[in-house]
Amino acid sequence: MFIEPHLGKYHRDKNLRTTGWIEVICGSMFSGKTEELIRRLNRANIARQKVEIFKPAIDTRYHDIDVVSHNSNSIPSTPISTPQEIFLWTSNCEVVGIDEAQFFDDSLVEVCVTLANTGKRVIIAGLDMDFQGRPFGSMPALMAVAEFVTKVHAICAVCGSVASYSFRLNASQERVLLGETDSYEARCRRCYNEGMLEQERKRKL
Ligand SMILES: [Zn+2]
Repeated sequence: MFIEPHLGKYHRDKNLRTTGWIEVICGSMFSGKTEELIRRLNRANIARQKVEIFKPAIDTRYHDIDVVSHNSNSIPSTPISTPQEIFLWTSNCEVVGIDEAQFFDDSLVEVCVTLANTGKRVIIAGLDMDFQGRPFGSMPALMAVAEFVTKVHAICAVCGSVASYSFRLNASQERVLLGETDSYEARCRRCYNEGMLEQERKRKL
């Protein structure tokens, strides 16, 4: 489990600039990314740090305001359309959480670096691969610039192995299809590859 290097009230000496850092929580669907993000943000709250949480306005699956994970554990968040909007809300906060980061454009990387450079702790959760197994959006770049990367895993819905792929059960090729339980399942590499071959065969029929 990830343990913060630092969670104190470390701004007592106002002249002393402390360092920020970037954490990435990545993995497939149903791997518990959002639960892990919420766990870390709750710990920061308990340490009486000022926390702001953002998610893409595109992700309106459950609720407009809350970051909601699949098990209904939730935390109030601000929906934003572009990463730059984060600057409008974070001038005096210490911890910035971002959920579903794969849906933002590449400018999110620069925004996160700037936030960390100005002393903030930035925690990003997102899908590392899309349903075709390709690195998703700016997640690879975010992982590169982060101090800490945590890859969380799901359980393969077919065989029970450790799963890191999000398998799309219908054959739609649209990339941004948001995750309801009935259209995706987590799969291990072998079951993912078998499922993709099966869909390929069906398309050719
Ligand atoms: Zn499997």
